[in-house]
Amino acid sequence: MVIVMAPNAGHADIEQVADYVARAGGSAFVSRGVNRTIIGVVGDEDVLAHLEGIDVEQLPCVAQIVRISSPYKLVSHENHTTTSTISVRGVPIGPETFTLIAGPCAVETAEQTLAAGRMAVAAGAAMMRGGAYKPRTSPYAFQGLGEDALRILADVRSEVGLPIVTEVIDAGDVETVARYADMLQIGTRNMTNFALLREVGAAGKPVLLKRGFASTYDEWLMAAEYVAQRGNLDIVLCERGIRTFETATRNTLDVSAVPVVHALSHLPVIIDPSHAAGRRDLVVPLARAGMAAGADGVIVDVHPRPESAKCDGAQALSGPLLEELSQAAATIPALLGRRGAR
Ligand code: PEP
Ligand code: MN
Repeated sequence: MVIVMAPNAGHADIEQVADYVARAGGSAFVSRGVNRTIIGVVGDEDVLAHLEGIDVEQLPCVAQIVRISSPYKLVSHENHTTTSTISVRGVPIGPETFTLIAGPCAVETAEQTLAAGRMAVAAGAAMMRGGAYKPRTSPYAFQGLGEDALRILADVRSEVGLPIVTEVIDAGDVETVARYADMLQIGTRNMTNFALLREVGAAGKPVLLKRGFASTYDEWLMAAEYVAQRGNLDIVLCERGIRTFETATRNTLDVSAVPVVHALSHLPVIIDPSHAAGRRDLVVPLARAGMAAGADGVIVDVHPRPESAKCDGAQALSGPLLEELSQAAATIPALLGRRGAR
């Protein structure tokens, strides 16, 4: 909290307000400017509420009280100044590294998933993705193989050795998904599904929390707070594009999210250029932009035969484009002092 004194406040007024702060149990840090004085208050969020009989905000010598305590306490920088490193089955996601996560949008067959897992390893990925429960816009579109897909992912993990992240869309499935997966993904459509957030917060597995495509940074961080509030601070945030007026891309990757949210929260931030663009030709340039902006990782769709993918084939990487992404992930983050992928 900051108390802004009125321009005409004198020395005695300042002393008196500082004294009120001390009586309320807070500490006052007085900073005298040329035109006015401000008093920084450290203590409870609303320490002055403890002061009986005196409303400091109403004193004529006080111009304004600014409450700067953020509404998300556990995920903000307030009590946690450095960026956290989240470990997913031993794979770090945080400020020292750049984590490439790759895999199919959806698990279709064991053969396709294994091929995609091998592509991920060859590209230098440290983790693999793959959808088992797909939140599709159309109820007629492929909905995912459910628990069969989870079994396939677990088999591919033992084959290729990469930890698995997969989406959970129903609070009733959290326990099942957590039995197979190393990290639980909350998709853009479920960012404000608070019952689901609470459930994954209690599941004992790291969480990849995508930003709602129409959500502000504050709303996104409040969603993270739901997970954290259940005792789980192993959360990685993922910017995956927002809805704008532009029609050339599926959504617009908001690169600003990376530095802005890093400044607001200690949680790592990664980007998903595949679901943002919806077009494979844009995935590598957007990924590069995210790397340059300081993202802690990138998650991309890959597929051994994009032309026959059951879901999001238009954005799936393979061949030379995946190689380009892999090169970028190995080199650009290293220029910024991180251990790059590969
Ligand atoms: C996904 O990663 O498979 C997915 C559906 O992403 P989003 O929730 O960002 O659309
Ligand atoms: Mn997809």
